[in-house]
Amino acid sequence: MKPIVALVGRPNVGKSTLFNRLTRTRDALVSDTPGVTRDRIYGTCAYGERDFLLVDTGGLETEAEGGIELLAAEQARQAIRDAELVVFLVDGRLGLHPEDAAIAEELRRMQVPVLLVVNKSEDLEPTTVSAEFYALGLGAPLPVSAAANQGMGRLVDLVEERL
Ligand code: GDP
Ligand code: MG
Repeated sequence: MKPIVALVGRPNVGKSTLFNRLTRTRDALVSDTPGVTRDRIYGTCAYGERDFLLVDTGGLETEAEGGIELLAAEQARQAIRDAELVVFLVDGRLGLHPEDAAIAEELRRMQVPVLLVVNKSEDLEPTTVSAEFYALGLGAPLPVSAAANQGMGRLVDLVEERL
């Protein structure tokens, strides 16, 4: 069995873009409309030394109140429970968002290992990115750009170190 890595984060941070990049597929639907990924999507990442199964989740909306949003959040929680490691993706362009803190808190409660990754960092100073997201209390944030294909090797290295 390949180890499972779950991609988690607010809608629109680039989870599906990163999923497609790492699995070299277009299986995950990328959209400007938040909340397009409703189900769990699985794909193999054979980028580095060791294969792992990547799960793209719908946005983990801790504020979700019902219906399809709640279902997506519940799906995301199940994916987290099944995972060896969570890649928690945040948006470096928008900066730290209150919902990020809520998700960080939930991940801490679930006691899963978390790797904090700051997407959309292609035009950002790495030190600025780090300072801001350190506040989440999840260790050193790793800046990447899924769209510009930057930082992918480093990301896979760090994931494999934790598996
Ligand atoms: P998801 O909702 O978290 O799955 O996010 P998506 O992968 O659907 O992406 C949401 C939007 O962010 C799309 O318009 C993407 O093209 C854009 N996006 C994804 N990754 C990056 C990135 O590294 N840099 C920039 N500037 N935009 C990105
Ligand atoms: Mg998505």
